[in-house]
Amino acid sequence: MPHFITPNFPSLDHTRIRSFAKWLPKCEVHLHFEGAVPVELAREWAPEPIPSPASWEAQDYRFESFTGDFSQVMQLTWKDTCTSLERLDIISSRIFEGLDRQNVRYVEMSFGIGAYPYPAGETLAAFKSGVPDGMTVRIIGALSRDRDIPVIREAAHGYISCDDLDGVDIHGNEMVGDPMSFVDFYDVARERDLILKAHAGEMRGPESIEEMLDKLSVKRIEHGVRAIESDEMVQRLIDEEVTLGLCPWSNVKLGFYPDLETHPVADLHRAGVSVTINTDDPTPFCHTITDEYAWLISERSMSVQEVGEIARNGFAIGRMDEDVRRRSIEEIDQLVSEYAEA
Ligand SMILES: [Zn+2]
Repeated sequence: MPHFITPNFPSLDHTRIRSFAKWLPKCEVHLHFEGAVPVELAREWAPEPIPSPASWEAQDYRFESFTGDFSQVMQLTWKDTCTSLERLDIISSRIFEGLDRQNVRYVEMSFGIGAYPYPAGETLAAFKSGVPDGMTVRIIGALSRDRDIPVIREAAHGYISCDDLDGVDIHGNEMVGDPMSFVDFYDVARERDLILKAHAGEMRGPESIEEMLDKLSVKRIEHGVRAIESDEMVQRLIDEEVTLGLCPWSNVKLGFYPDLETHPVADLHRAGVSVTINTDDPTPFCHTITDEYAWLISERSMSVQEVGEIARNGFAIGRMDEDVRRRSIEEIDQLVSEYAEA
């Protein structure tokens, strides 16, 4: 991936911020396998050559639409390349290696249910390959609201009782489809004590978040950034201890906010909402989780203490060993105090 240069930031502080963001123990809880195929593997495997650099790899490139150029890049980097179980295995291992190098300790990686023509158990096993020592990975089955619902439902029947499935999500174009078509799978997942989450409040307003909270009883909303448009919704998220899986750069690249400076991540955090910071689809958006954390300081003027609080939110909600949770939070506190004094 090209080196990202933050334009308005003094060079000396830039190094310190990058170092803090890299060594901060982190969680990545809003990551789509389909959007995380390392671009060097996509270039190696794509049937049509992918230019280097491609137009969408430019820092100032903005996608025109979710269903247009964004989908075309996903076709190139994921759909045309993920053509065997062995490749799912190789890609997953490479994704986790990259996160491990950035001190990510806990990962929730989703995959599209119905997108792979292999037996459910073998597919899940491939997604769980190559997990480095010290990292916990949870695999989340994502139900696509904007695809052929009966086909997705049929595939979901194959996954919902698999031991290696750790959670369910609803994703896809928020303007399309009825997410309540999947409510029975949430009932089964709740019975199994799986992680329950749903995408909302990205393309549509606070009412889309309300629907997921009311009808699916989730405590985790992917994006949910447009909660900021309703004081009542902000208060509800706080009262019901709902955590938002925010992805600021994704929102900017898809044109929901003009730039990081106007993204409401800091406002939501300061209002008292539990937010996490994630990448969503790092391949088409061409960035890393370290970038996301660094930009909170450089582009949103958040303090290292605030960024430490956001990192802690991930460890508070993650399904991980209690010892890993405790040690990671202690390390965050220590790093924050070191950098706050420097
Ligand atoms: Zn997402």
